[in-house]
Amino acid sequence: MYHKYDAVVIGAGGAGLSAAIKLVGKGNVAVISKLYPSRSHTGAAQGGICAALGNCEEDHWEWHMFDTVKGGDYLTDQDAAEILAREAIDAIYELEHMGLPFNRTPEGKIDQRRFGGHTRNYGEGPVRRACYSADRTGHMILQTLYQQGIKNNVTFFNEFHLMDILINNGRCVGVTAIDIKTGELHTFQTKAAILATGGYGRAWKVTSNAHACTGDGMTSAYRAGVPLMDMEMYQFHPTGLYRIGVLLSEAARGEGGILRNSVGERFCERYAPTLKDLAPRDMVSRFIAQEIREGRGAGPDKDYVYLHVDHLGKEVIDAKLPDITDFARTYLKVEPYKEGVPIQPTAHYAMGGVPTNVNGEVIIDENATVLPGLYAAGEVACVSVHGANRLGTNSLVDLVVFGRRAGMKAAEYIKTVDFEELPANHESKANQLIGWVNAGTDPKRKEIAADIRKELQREMEENVKVVRNEKGMTHALTKIQELKGRYLKVRLQDPSSKFNTERLEILELGSLLEVAEATAKGALERKESRGAHYREDMLNRDDVNFLKHTLAYRSEDGGVSRLAYKPVSITRFQPKERKY
Ligand SMILES: Cc1cc2nc3c(=O)[nH]c(=O)nc-3n(C[C@H](O)[C@H](O)[C@H](O)COP(=O)(O)OP(=O)(O)OC[C@H]3O[C@@H](n4cnc5c(N)ncnc54)[C@H](O)[C@@H]3O)c2cc1C
Repeated sequence: MYHKYDAVVIGAGGAGLSAAIKLVGKGNVAVISKLYPSRSHTGAAQGGICAALGNCEEDHWEWHMFDTVKGGDYLTDQDAAEILAREAIDAIYELEHMGLPFNRTPEGKIDQRRFGGHTRNYGEGPVRRACYSADRTGHMILQTLYQQGIKNNVTFFNEFHLMDILINNGRCVGVTAIDIKTGELHTFQTKAAILATGGYGRAWKVTSNAHACTGDGMTSAYRAGVPLMDMEMYQFHPTGLYRIGVLLSEAARGEGGILRNSVGERFCERYAPTLKDLAPRDMVSRFIAQEIREGRGAGPDKDYVYLHVDHLGKEVIDAKLPDITDFARTYLKVEPYKEGVPIQPTAHYAMGGVPTNVNGEVIIDENATVLPGLYAAGEVACVSVHGANRLGTNSLVDLVVFGRRAGMKAAEYIKTVDFEELPANHESKANQLIGWVNAGTDPKRKEIAADIRKELQREMEENVKVVRNEKGMTHALTKIQELKGRYLKVRLQDPSSKFNTERLEILELGSLLEVAEATAKGALERKESRGAHYREDMLNRDDVNFLKHTLAYRSEDGGVSRLAYKPVSITRFQPKERKY
């Protein structure tokens, strides 16, 4: 089937909906989403969304900008960090006016809590900057934005899976997507496509991410000739439930929760005397890894530590942390009122992704050349506001600030251009891929997608995690290449066309393999330690050679053909040693 819209947003999480709302009234707009919008992963976000409102204590956007730059280990583009910190304030009030039910102070202002790496006066101590709705902040944002979309007659194509981004005469002119319900391929001709498809935490075994987080949007852009930026910068959140990764938000530590090792020691204060348990995530994850390596992990395998909130009291836990403490009861049968919860670092957030400028326009090379008509925002994108490590609560604000900006820029653009023709045979690439998946019913195709996925996740877990080294990453790359070979022989057991989730899982696995390869390759070639990329064989940050962004380009046959590098934007804050 064929559709024509002035703008098409792919993804109905916080970023996609923020962009779509800014296009309302500027042209007709469609949102395509493989999940029903309110199931998007933004709904899982717990702890908060930050802005220097200064409602609970003094705060300034400059302090927020500084924390974002320092938190990102100076790989953050400072022009982007300035926009994030300045525009966060308006974005929060806009959400409030849309009806978002924030927690309130006794005087009725939006309440704010502490979060890792957010400080007062350039690092003096923690500051209360995160606005929140109990521990359901993302859920509230998603519901609020979706309701605005419905109210404003945005057209939703729910349960449509993006296949290809269509480029003609150097412009993005449309996308193809499968209607999951029928299995039919649809073409959307458009003047502007906005990618907002989220992250790819499912490349790891222990992850906070939902099953749908498979990097499809990144892969579609990559297959259309866009490089992927800073993929090696993948965040591990310190407090995933032991073995399963379900997240216990940093809000728990923001409210006073603490980490203890097997001997009951509050170990973070040894490593980060000022911020302690509220040091940034890359560091706390490393502290945990170090405790475990030095034999102070808990349990029979000495491979986890405890998160304690028991000293906060039942009242605080019930009022401010109800969902996450329920997770501990449900999944580990642990009672947080009384005991520590076993936790370990969990794959959480992609700092890298599809490169954009500060207006959400996708760029395609080291010279920041814009690909007209293609935009990206949210976790799929790399603007790069998080650099080498994202601070907690800076993602939700990234979605709304840069989602809005991408929507507004696309709204300007669609006024200035006519529709461009679709490329000849525009459905052929998608049909070829679907045809190849369908041919998997041939008995000669014996590989099982779930096995390949598990092996990929195990490999990434072992060798491209919190602590890395050359040997491990080389092993991971070789393994990924082997898995890509086996993927070519993957079997399809369900030949039906309606709601064929097996077929989708095969397509998603193809995405995971490609983004995992770009991640491992970028990591192997970044010969330093910076933020989330910590190499035990190269312990120091190397600003002389690596104060730069990595761009991974794809070859025709689907491998990383080459890496190139792009300078970091440094405006206000010169790089210095990162201490907390
Ligand atoms: C457990 C958890 C807690 C978190 N807590 C916080 C927090 O407190 N504060 C904070 O700032 N951040 C938090 N984060 C991070 C933050 O929630 C995410 O980074 C953010 O929500 C991503 O939003 P998004 O709009 O980019 O993508 P998502 O919300 O993941 O939405 C992606 C959308 O793209 C669609 N999509 C994907 N692939 C396709 C495809 N092939 N075809 C069509 N549609 C597709 C999906 O259907 C979905 O609608 C948390 C993350 C997790 C996992």
